[in-house]
Amino acid sequence: MIIVMKPNASAKQIGHVLQRIEDAGFRAHISRGEERTVIGVIGDERHLDPDQWSLLEGVERAMRVLRPYKLASREFHRENTVIELGDVHIGGDQIVIMAGPCSVESKEQILATAQAVKEAGAVILRGGAFKPRTSPYSFQGLGEEGLKLLAEAREATGLLIVTEVMSPDQVPLVAHYADILQIGARNMQNYPLLRAVGETNRPVLLKRGMSSTVEELLLAAEYVLSQGNYQVMLCERGIRTFERVTRNTFDLNAIPVLKELTHLPVIADPSHGVGLWQHVAPVARGAVAAGADGLLVEVHPDPANAWSDGAQSLTPENFTRLVEEVVRVAEAVGRTVARPAPADTSTVAA
Ligand code: PEP
Ligand code: MN
Repeated sequence: MIIVMKPNASAKQIGHVLQRIEDAGFRAHISRGEERTVIGVIGDERHLDPDQWSLLEGVERAMRVLRPYKLASREFHRENTVIELGDVHIGGDQIVIMAGPCSVESKEQILATAQAVKEAGAVILRGGAFKPRTSPYSFQGLGEEGLKLLAEAREATGLLIVTEVMSPDQVPLVAHYADILQIGARNMQNYPLLRAVGETNRPVLLKRGMSSTVEELLLAAEYVLSQGNYQVMLCERGIRTFERVTRNTFDLNAIPVLKELTHLPVIADPSHGVGLWQHVAPVARGAVAAGADGLLVEVHPDPANAWSDGAQSLTPENFTRLVEEVVRVAEAVGRTVARPAPADTSTVAA
């Protein structure tokens, strides 16, 4: 159930409603909008009668949220959630481009890629340090060493870092280095992991499981939100279908559908979505035209020798072209692309 307070509801009235919720054995989630305060009642609400709660002082209306995901639903929160990381705002008017290699391989590789994707127009650097590989014999990532290299790349370029965390016990370590915690497709329904990132204050990039429905993705997001971390962005990265000519089938439908169902930002990953570098840019353009708030793109200085996902990785040159195209598509749909901050050229006086 959600309780919408009157625009002029007093702090005392809000406090009273919160107390009643607690007394009834439920948890409250408060969302203070520009206009009014909305309170989510969390728990098994079958025995709650919205009509009775509507009678409390300061309450405009109480209603059940019909969707199984509540905090994630647009019924609950009409305005878009905008995740603010310094100057980078994810989910607002601007489209945010995140790019970098599938895996962090070496200092030279990550620094060169970071510089290249920044020059092309990315504002967030991606790179896996803990890699969820299908085969246990494939490269599993550099681990903490990879996180340190990402932090060095952030230091050198000013780009923010998004990187994957694979298990609850890794969360403190990864959150120490990363600006955004990525939950991979294979872990979308790893509920202890979702709860663990929900207990941090780091934004979460939650990727759709390769065989998950949109509703399952939203319920996975609800796990994170229900722990008190409301900074969640959802990522469409392709689903598994009967079609084998591409690695996955990028579900373009999911983008407008998610924008309708949820207030959370929606990011598109055309790289895993299609799996073949020559088709990444067209899918990226389509995703932006369809309403994506951001892109996650794999870029490698030498795709032929990448330690993972080389076939879908763009060279810096091809990525530069992709950004130029996306800028034009963004303009056509009334949006702009966030630009990286200019390099800090200030010098310290001797
Ligand atoms: C990745 O981003 O490199 C990755 C492993 O993605 P996914 O979880 O979508 O397969
Ligand atoms: Mn990858």
